[in-house]
Amino acid sequence: MGRIRVLPDQVANKIAAGEVVERPASVVKELLENSLDAGATDLRIEVEVGGRRLIRVVDDGCGMLRDDALLAFERHATSKLRDVKDLLSIATLGFRGEALPSIASVSRLLLETRSVEETTGTTIEIAGGKMLRCEESALVRGTSISVRDLFYNVPARRKFLRTEQTELAHIASLATHYSLAHPDKTVRLASGAAELLSVTPVATLKERVYQVFGSQALDDLVDIGVRERDMFLPPPSVPPSQAIAEYQREPEEPPVRTFRLTGFFSRPQVQKANRNSIYIFVNGRLIRDRLLLHALAAAYHNLMPASSYPFALLFLECDPAEVDVNVHPSKTEVRFRHGSFVHDFVRDTIRERLMESRPAPSFSPAPRPASSTAIQPAAALPYSEFSQMIENTAPAGLADAPTMPPQPAPAPSASSALPEFSLRPAAPPPQRLDFSAPPLEVTPGPPPSGKLSRRLDSHGEFPPEAIPPPEMSLSVLSDLRPLGQIHESFIIAAGRDGLWIIDQHVAHERILFEQVMKQRAAGRVEIQRLLMPLILQLTPEQQIDYARIADELHTAGFETEPFGNRTIAVKAAPAAVSAPDLEKILFEILEIAEGELRNASLEDLRRDICASIACRAAIKINTRLDASKMEWLLRALAQTDCPMSCPHGRPIALHYSTREILKAFHRI
Ligand code: ADP
Ligand code: MG
Repeated sequence: MGRIRVLPDQVANKIAAGEVVERPASVVKELLENSLDAGATDLRIEVEVGGRRLIRVVDDGCGMLRDDALLAFERHATSKLRDVKDLLSIATLGFRGEALPSIASVSRLLLETRSVEETTGTTIEIAGGKMLRCEESALVRGTSISVRDLFYNVPARRKFLRTEQTELAHIASLATHYSLAHPDKTVRLASGAAELLSVTPVATLKERVYQVFGSQALDDLVDIGVRERDMFLPPPSVPPSQAIAEYQREPEEPPVRTFRLTGFFSRPQVQKANRNSIYIFVNGRLIRDRLLLHALAAAYHNLMPASSYPFALLFLECDPAEVDVNVHPSKTEVRFRHGSFVHDFVRDTIRERLMESRPAPSFSPAPRPASSTAIQPAAALPYSEFSQMIENTAPAGLADAPTMPPQPAPAPSASSALPEFSLRPAAPPPQRLDFSAPPLEVTPGPPPSGKLSRRLDSHGEFPPEAIPPPEMSLSVLSDLRPLGQIHESFIIAAGRDGLWIIDQHVAHERILFEQVMKQRAAGRVEIQRLLMPLILQLTPEQQIDYARIADELHTAGFETEPFGNRTIAVKAAPAAVSAPDLEKILFEILEIAEGELRNASLEDLRRDICASIACRAAIKINTRLDASKMEWLLRALAQTDCPMSCPHGRPIALHYSTREILKAFHRI
């Protein structure tokens, strides 16, 4: 007798559940996706004990016919696909027909549903994959699915669940982000008696962002608007999935595909330590995708330190045929048919918007507790990094500036006369320099009753007076009147709209960086010949890196040649670099090359070489500047493509608007 046997459905479902249902939040995700696919406009989520005891999703969607309700729990039963060709153009969130049977196999599930076409509804009860009850009942239209005691029959999984608070935070994060993806729907999340999220339909994503996070968050974000790029289809290429390899594309396929990007992303000075604040939706599906994450990082290259990440809420729309969603059972990964096109579109669009909006950081508010920044409690739960971004807008410390000379201790008289600007990164801003607007008034923690609190309700609309003032643009820099310096390091300037502080070193660095990049692109880098060649001794690794980038160095203005064993002779250098800096800068570039060549593009290396040159050549801090120099610096900065951050990603200018000044003096 053979040893292979076909597994019974119950076992197969439990195995599938291992992939589909990782934690309570995965159940919420699957149920929400089903409700959205069913055309629901009102989605209510209730959970108890972080979803362990209960997860209930109630919708007003199309509901299920009685026969369908039974079928829905069969393995691979779906209403969303007919044949394998449909996999090429999936417009729904679900399609695998795996979620309901998987969830039902690891919990006690109650389905209550009534379809528009039927007068009575259906109730089905299943525990651990076994049907307990199926009966007709009087129900309103729509579907309610209650999942109790998740993993009650899979002790191994149950053990891996994290604390109630963590699981709840995952659920809240998910609900928040789906609510952002669907501004036209009502979304509610309640944990026990506490209402964590409650948003009513609005017309735009901007209004939804306002509902969820409040106006403060909007001030910190750049709106992409609607950006599109057309792709002209190349000759037929390899189909996206092996499983459908035998199916050819339809001959009447349109030759142009349009990709559309909308959403919000943070200004470069909002720097996060990880990628948790990046939310990417492709055709309405929340996904994790390396290609798009890379495109986003590339957009911020030279605007933000490499180890930092922005906040982003991106919605990419394209023809469903352009994206294969059938990559993983949890449907959180996708594969693009024309990956590099999509990558470049996203990178260029975000970069262009960053350049266009030239957002100036306002005086960074002192860190406030998360609960005071978020309007909806769900957005304030720890997992949701959205709420934390506002706190992290403090400009990066200056101590790591590569050019920072040793700190001369300020004379005691000067330090008492001047506000205490700390040049050390760890020191918090002194209290009396706290220019922050008064903290937003919000109800701390969830409201006591299950009912919507008045405060939440009042944010259902977008009052015109709450619309943030027009984005401050750094283009106004050329009109600024320099008033003087603080510590001979920061230029203070007055403008039409308030007060500005400009970091002179990074400002000059940005000006030089763009100059050097332009000269390099035009093949006209100004160089200086050295009277005596500079001889440098390299380590074996440096020797290898040098060999790889010798051409790049040459184009950047460094004339070098091998000079015996592991030694090079430098005969000329870019004019901007002074002789004493030359050795340091070359070793710095070799070090960058070592890191970059492994995982970055040549373009990135090129930019980094230019950034090193600019950094070495720029005016240092602790340098006195006369009025004409300061004026020149501001004008030149205004003319750069990107006056908001230096090539290493630090902010250049801080703005304290008239409105903020008036508010701080209680005049408005
Ligand atoms: P899939 O979503 O991949 O089709 P599921 O197992 O999640 O698979 O659901 C199976 C089927 O049950 C769906 O195709 C749909 O027809 C039906 N269904 C599930 N949830 C709902 C709902 N909330 N409203 C209406 N129909 C639903
Ligand atoms: Mg589904």
